Amino acid sequence: MEKVIKLHDRNFKVMIPADKIEVAVSAVADKINADYREKKNPIFIGVLNGSFMFMSDLLKKIDFCCEISFVKLASYCGTCSSGEVTNLIGLNRDIEGRDVIIVEDIVDTGASIEHMVAELQRHNPASVRICTLFFKPNAYKRSIPIDYPAMEIGNEFIVGYGLDYDQLGRNLKDVYVVTE
Ligand code: 5GP
Ligand code: MG
Repeated sequence: MEKVIKLHDRNFKVMIPADKIEVAVSAVADKINADYREKKNPIFIGVLNGSFMFMSDLLKKIDFCCEISFVKLASYCGTCSSGEVTNLIGLNRDIEGRDVIIVEDIVDTGASIEHMVAELQRHNPASVRICTLFFKPNAYKRSIPIDYPAMEIGNEFIVGYGLDYDQLGRNLKDVYVVTE
């Protein structure tokens, strides 16, 4: 029997098991390792809350000297993107002249990441690239390149491995999709 879990009012079933996530995280870490090995102390900026688990697993696989920081940018409500973005909170590092890698949980329409990149660019970093655990190419409506997508998915709503449904489900080690 397929395992179904209930979060608030909705049922979810496993879509991507933890071992598949680990393979994808390793593959994206390999690409970043290859591209950044010659750079001077790049800084990874995780976007809270959703990226906490990905950030932890990804950074364990990064083999060059780097800094780690987190910011917060809330733009989502329930199961549909609100389209609204709020301000960037917690950028407490001077990123001028630095190579920055943003670490996101998921890029959907791209509104949040576009806002995030614009905010970071105001501080004159040497470079900004985007790493995201999940990318929804069919929903993406912006032109900024998504440099390091670990996994591409359709437009389904997913939870687990950091991603929530109204704050529940972030602790799940597998990724779940809503069922009817
Ligand atoms: P965007 O601004 O790209 O439309 O949306 C990005 C944010 O929406 C993500 O950081 C995440 O918080 C939320 N989001 C988008 N798709 C999903 C999804 O399938 N599941 C969950 N839990 N959050 C999502
Ligand atoms: Mg997010």
